[in-house]
Amino acid sequence: MTFDSTAFRKRFHYSGRDLGPTRTAARTRFRVWAPTADEIHLVLYKQGLGGTPVGLWRMQKSAQGTWTRAIEGDWAGIYYTYRVRRGAETHEVVDPYAPAVGSNGLRGMVVDFSKTNPPGWARDRRPAFRHPTEAVIYELHVRDATIHPSAGAKHKGLFLGLTERGLPNGAGLDHLRELGVTHLHLLPVFDFASVDETKPHKPQYNWGYDPLNYNAPEGSYSTNAADGAVRIREFKRLVLALHRAGIRVVMDVVYNHTYHGAESHFHKLVPGYYHRQNADGGFSNGSGCGNEIASDRSMVRKMIVDSLVHWAREYHIDGFRFDLMGLHDLETMKEIRRALDRVDHSILLYGEGWTGGDSPLPWNKRAMKTNVRALDRIAAFSDNIRDAIKGPVMEHAKGGFVQGEPGMEEAIKAGVVAQVAHPQVAYPKGDDWRGPWAVEPWRCVSYDSCHDNHTLWDKLALTAKDQPETVRLRMNALAAAIVLTSQGIPFLHAGEEFARTKKGVENSYNKPDSINAIDWRRKKKFAELVAYYRGLIALRRATPEFRLSSADAIRKRLTFLPGAPSGVVAFLIAGDRRHLVVVYNANRAPVTVHLPEANWSVLVDDTRAGVRPLRRLVGGPLPVPPISAFVASSSS
Ligand code: CA
Repeated sequence: MTFDSTAFRKRFHYSGRDLGPTRTAARTRFRVWAPTADEIHLVLYKQGLGGTPVGLWRMQKSAQGTWTRAIEGDWAGIYYTYRVRRGAETHEVVDPYAPAVGSNGLRGMVVDFSKTNPPGWARDRRPAFRHPTEAVIYELHVRDATIHPSAGAKHKGLFLGLTERGLPNGAGLDHLRELGVTHLHLLPVFDFASVDETKPHKPQYNWGYDPLNYNAPEGSYSTNAADGAVRIREFKRLVLALHRAGIRVVMDVVYNHTYHGAESHFHKLVPGYYHRQNADGGFSNGSGCGNEIASDRSMVRKMIVDSLVHWAREYHIDGFRFDLMGLHDLETMKEIRRALDRVDHSILLYGEGWTGGDSPLPWNKRAMKTNVRALDRIAAFSDNIRDAIKGPVMEHAKGGFVQGEPGMEEAIKAGVVAQVAHPQVAYPKGDDWRGPWAVEPWRCVSYDSCHDNHTLWDKLALTAKDQPETVRLRMNALAAAIVLTSQGIPFLHAGEEFARTKKGVENSYNKPDSINAIDWRRKKKFAELVAYYRGLIALRRATPEFRLSSADAIRKRLTFLPGAPSGVVAFLIAGDRRHLVVVYNANRAPVTVHLPEANWSVLVDDTRAGVRPLRRLVGGPLPVPPISAFVASSSS
């Protein structure tokens, strides 16, 4: 009976909702799924690390491969593991369903969640939000946000640092509010492995794509990792502070692999079940990190779904970004959508529609970019527009549209329509393209940069190094205008609005703060660029024509202007009461575009952007300055 067989699934799929500890003041019942185990003991500890067990309880075999044990009394705050014997082998493992963990995630903890709620939590509401294309996502790493001295935070690099207001240099939460983004996307904040939580003062850094415990927050972002309840309370305080600022919270989740393979507690608990295997029986490596999670096995799928529902319900999380979503099977992604809809229909879901290596999961089952058409309200990152705007991430010296690379117009147009079919867009050929894969605009996340690869500013430095800073700033501004006036879901990498640099380092996942930290002094230095981003975001949020909710509406309303010179993309969007015209000029010289007859209010030019008219124009020949965007709205 193999793990993938129907017989195994029938005999051992456990659908109950009580995996992990279920606590009341009178007793706590533990249940763990381990169909291949011969014997399991529940082991309790006073501390999350070190010390000797305060007791050992033999667990009883129960339904569908589960083991259970109830113990009388109030056990909130107790740490626990399972001692699992299989044949002659015994392992002590952390519960995959541990809702809290101690230092370094080496023991689970029983928690009284009602005691983890900060003041005001009961009244916490998700900020108003309806349709995915109304989002403006900002991607940020918790530590990067406030670890730099220029942030002046009291709680440097911690969850609480991002709750602080009135910081010097306009740093942190105030900045997010000023900018006007709708969603803050946090790089991994679940418990990851690579930062030693027992050494909070030792400089350590990791992005966090090295999962240890999926259902507990990361300890190194809390003021006290040794008490498993503290990180929970402090992360909730961050969610509450963001919600009060009108910003929704997205978690970056990494259910595609675990930090350890054979040494992971998943593998020790049920060897071979949680990870996919190669034909030779070894760990397959679709993640490029040594293993990959078998999302298509029913108890793994259930674990992922239960985990997401836990974050959405207990922590009021408003969205999830799936790392290497291409390693998840489509069926799991559908189940995730259904389960989260039962919590809140407006929860935003998107992911990387690719893998990090080859996988035994058949191509047609993978949640790849080209397969997301099978999914409802789950988007994929458009590497197409990312690379079209500023050049491919894999070819460092190669530029894109904004640097004046010729022949990029159709690629930009495909991005403008959010990778849906449009009669005026001739989709470029090639493996990375695969035509209008999004089918609908809410499946397309539009961006020019993210934590991976070079920052936008560093990429511009590599590809336009002969150009003065003033010219590179124009390229940066044009890139932002393209992302924020394109259809689909715009996504910004933290700090790109003030020319963030990682000093030329591309993959900075474990580089020190000197590379990764956000230097908030740049906010003042590049104030004009910041204002430009802020104006574009305000304009987008005030302009439904930039965030049409269906491909049919895009095809009906959005028309590219014929006869645009090379290096120029220009289009009209017909609104109900007005029209919008948008021009991107990537040439290093001004161009003239013919503006249709109307009373136009200019909203974006080469230096300013916003909702207030900068000047008025009637139609006719329109000079567009070099490397710049232009947006105008007709008044009737
Ligand atoms: Ca950790």
